[in-house]
Amino acid sequence: MKPPALVEPPHLAVDLKTLRLPTVLEHWERQAQEALRARRTSPEYLADLMHLEVHHRREKRIRRLIQEARFPVLKTLDSFDFNAQPGLQRDTLLDLAQGRFVASHENVLLIGGVGTGKTHLAIALGVSCCQQERRVRYFTAAELTNDLVEAKHQGRLSRRMEYLARFDVVVLDELGYVPFDKQGADLLFGLVSKVYERKSLIVTTNLPFARWSEVFLDPTAAAAVIDRIVHHATILKTEGESYRLRSAQGTRRKPRPEEKPS
Ligand code: ADP
Ligand code: MG
Repeated sequence: MKPPALVEPPHLAVDLKTLRLPTVLEHWERQAQEALRARRTSPEYLADLMHLEVHHRREKRIRRLIQEARFPVLKTLDSFDFNAQPGLQRDTLLDLAQGRFVASHENVLLIGGVGTGKTHLAIALGVSCCQQERRVRYFTAAELTNDLVEAKHQGRLSRRMEYLARFDVVVLDELGYVPFDKQGADLLFGLVSKVYERKSLIVTTNLPFARWSEVFLDPTAAAAVIDRIVHHATILKTEGESYRLRSAQGTRRKPRPEEKPS
């Protein structure tokens, strides 16, 4: 049956634009026809239409937050193979994905060898934070230090620090892959201190704590950073050989000693 023709009320389009309700503008007519057909009451029609607007607005905001986070790729917990990491509890990750650690300004630290899924998990948690409408920003440790060094050289370090400290979550990936110089180490320490107990960090590293002084050049600086990151943190360890290597070989055999990550 042909839907009943509706006369557009005068001013409606202008008012909806003024009120910035684009979804209502786009859908009011089709929804109204459906409501007539299904004999929905006008309060129900109104509620459905408003709900649609709220839903679309939220989706748009989440898309924007995910873009703003600048993840190098998108990963989800759904696509993480927990069988490959028997030491990791799926429940722990699902619980973290609920985002309470962000509300309580706690950190997540992922430690493990190359290719064991640290970046995958860090991004997946970052994405779930975006889905809870948190502001997230991803950096590799090298990118972040370069960013801070550059800001310092351009005389805008404190503004940059303020900007970064406004994110609810900063993902600091690949700490330990590249050692910092003294200035880089100091700047990174500065940021970690600034967000300590105010915001959350998701940090990934291939280095056990005992070796952090290699990255931060001196043991005191390393201890200070570890102290602040670990104080309120969930520490997760990823193990085994590289998932990439395993998928390439199409097998889950035990690694030979010479293949074990150092
Ligand atoms: P890391 O950061 O520890 O070096 P990545 O997270 O970059 O490792 O993982 C390397 C690749 O393997 C990525 O494409 C990642 O999605 C995939 N990967 C690693 N572990 C798993 C896993 N348990 N389940 C699914 N994919 C995985
Ligand atoms: Mg990685």
